[in-house]
Amino acid sequence: MDRIYLDNAATTRIYDEVASEMFALSKEYYGNPSSSHSEGARAAALLSEARGIVAECLNCEEDEIFFTSGGTESDNWALYALSPAVKSDGKRRIAVSAVEHAAVLRAAEKYYENVDIIKCGSDGRVTVSAAEEAITPDTAAVSVMFANNETGALQPVDGIAGFCREKGIPFHTDAVQAVGRVPVDLQKLKVDMLSASAHKFHGPKGTGFLYVRGGRIAPLMVGGTQQNGKRAGTQDCIAAYGAALALRKSVKELIGTSDRVTVLRELAERGISRIEGAHIVCAGTERLPGILNVCFDGVQGESLAALLDIAGVAASSGPACRGKQSDPSRALTAMGIAPELARGELRISFSGFNTREETEYAVAAIERAVIKTRQIK
Ligand code: PLP
Repeated sequence: MDRIYLDNAATTRIYDEVASEMFALSKEYYGNPSSSHSEGARAAALLSEARGIVAECLNCEEDEIFFTSGGTESDNWALYALSPAVKSDGKRRIAVSAVEHAAVLRAAEKYYENVDIIKCGSDGRVTVSAAEEAITPDTAAVSVMFANNETGALQPVDGIAGFCREKGIPFHTDAVQAVGRVPVDLQKLKVDMLSASAHKFHGPKGTGFLYVRGGRIAPLMVGGTQQNGKRAGTQDCIAAYGAALALRKSVKELIGTSDRVTVLRELAERGISRIEGAHIVCAGTERLPGILNVCFDGVQGESLAALLDIAGVAASSGPACRGKQSDPSRALTAMGIAPELARGELRISFSGFNTREETEYAVAAIERAVIKTRQIK
């Protein structure tokens, strides 16, 4: 059997048609979109088409979408723009969930005097009342992710955003794992800012966007006047267009993909839960369709992932961006999982490219790898 890729929370394979289209366009659309000649105008038109597609997919205005280098930049920009470095209302605190990605957590620590943590329950979710508890009169901004990258747990983003709106506190969500995988409608959702990244929905890497309600935001990147003077730097119109095409396809096929992927995740979950000492994380929690997280007693997740790699299965023992792999996952320990058990973490994550045969093979490979890892301990 060919290799089996089950690490779609880390990144996804680009759609063939998106890669081909980008390759073809890159030979023609080489102009700088800010140049006034015809080559520049063509590139600018492609960029504008890309922005239009993204806005249509998410039900927002075109001038509310800013292309960035990906999720990390979008998160950093959002948190910077709401911080005391930019705002002069004297508010110096931010509230973030206990399970945020490092891009939000590190930016919160960098740009705010205090970071208040919104506690999460053993189901991996925060609640609106936990958010209310973490908010103080000095809270400048709140950031809660849409869906967690390790467990897939969906957060009650709209409820917290609604509460923040009532209190007049700007609300940002890191929707990097959610966009293209679950419905996101920015007319209905009460968020002020939302981050997304194209490589999570079968688009190119190094490209994403930040949605800003009303389109007014202080720039993080300064220099030229690109993107309404909000984000300096020559824009990669091919990458933006590739991101837009991938988003359009993902959104169009979302329900079908979600149903198929859920079947695979449930199949894997049933098989894996029969393995001795397996603890399914967030079982029963409202989750993304494609993420399955499990902790095994008496196993190091990284050894397990290494054995699986040899067996032809790409999975991970936590997020790809985690520092020292021997550290237990921050998200899992925040849920009350003991560090020793959290070290036995394995995350498998599916996409529409995966099949039933691959899933069955992977479950059998996981069982063999768990037994072997315990023997060599
Ligand atoms: N936020 C979440 C929830 C993620 O899963 C990731 C990537 O793994 C990021 C942010 C960072 O996105 P990017 O890799 O596009 O910088």
